Amino acid sequence: MVVLGIESTAHTASVGLVNDDATILAVASDMYRPVQGGIHPREAANHHVRVFPGLVERALRDAGVRAREIEAVAFAQGPGLGPCLRAGATVARTLSLLWDRPLVPVNHCVAHLEIARALSGLDDPLLLYTSGGNTQVIAYGGGRYRVLGETLDIGVGNFLDKLWIELGGTFPGGPALEAEAKQGAELLPLPYSVHGMDVAFSGILTAALAHRAKGAKRPDLAYSVETTSYAMLTEITERALAHRRKEAVVLGGGVACNERLRTMVREMAEGRGAAMYAPDRSVCVDNGAMIAWTGHLARGSGLAVPIEASGIQPRQRTDRVGAPWRKDPAPAQGS
Ligand code: AMP
Ligand code: MG
Repeated sequence: MVVLGIESTAHTASVGLVNDDATILAVASDMYRPVQGGIHPREAANHHVRVFPGLVERALRDAGVRAREIEAVAFAQGPGLGPCLRAGATVARTLSLLWDRPLVPVNHCVAHLEIARALSGLDDPLLLYTSGGNTQVIAYGGGRYRVLGETLDIGVGNFLDKLWIELGGTFPGGPALEAEAKQGAELLPLPYSVHGMDVAFSGILTAALAHRAKGAKRPDLAYSVETTSYAMLTEITERALAHRRKEAVVLGGGVACNERLRTMVREMAEGRGAAMYAPDRSVCVDNGAMIAWTGHLARGSGLAVPIEASGIQPRQRTDRVGAPWRKDPAPAQGS
């Protein structure tokens, strides 16, 4: 069964095609880049509307697949920016009607986990999901994916972007800060905001800008911000592994492209005897293939929605959607 997936939760419009064994047949993506500042939802949605027809054509051509071979059309239903989600959902509904194929809604966060699970072969990993708008530790338990910990304010990626823009740079800030951090030497004191299983970033942003106002060098700031915020993320991931007795962690989201974060999580996992898998960077970022693959799993469980029930859900919570394709793993010893 070849499934086509449509991703449009934020700045990336993407179309992916996968087959039965999660082979990614094609991914065609185009990212909206704001001229200045952060993402403007309506401008991003206009961008998506403009590029989607070409992306669908390109994905089919690159995969060598004909429209009639597509057996289901999946789309990211949420969470995300309303105007952007609506653009992608409209494309998915159109293709579903045009090709007379089932329409399958997918949760974007679950999709990051499912594609990493498929590519790694790990059966029951937890996901550290670090993207622009989302920061969550997610694990499966009792029929659905559960959020074990998350940001109490902004997503780690938005935090890095905001900081970089305040320092005079342009979106996206994460990769630029990563390059800058490599030149940093001094670890400046920043608030380490772990609250139980949750984290917060806005206090670090304020403190980093205060250091800057007092003359701190940009590389030192970048190095300190990465060290502190990635240590926080590694800590809650470790606690989740321990409490849920999971034996593997996978990464997802744009910030998971970061070498330092990958290394810190890998060292933590290996220290506990757990497996760690970081997908290729093209899979960490938002992409249509992960939506297609999760749609494939959902369709395999008989899930599909009629057009009139296919509304977007900008605030859809990871733990409000079912995952009937998962079998409950045997309970760990002693639990
Ligand atoms: P996503 O929302 O998953 O598409 O990811 C976009 C976010 O990832 C943006 O906030 C970027 O700044 C961030 N990002 C991308 N590459 C890196 C990197 N190498 N290090 C840190 N953050 C990154
Ligand atoms: Mg994402």
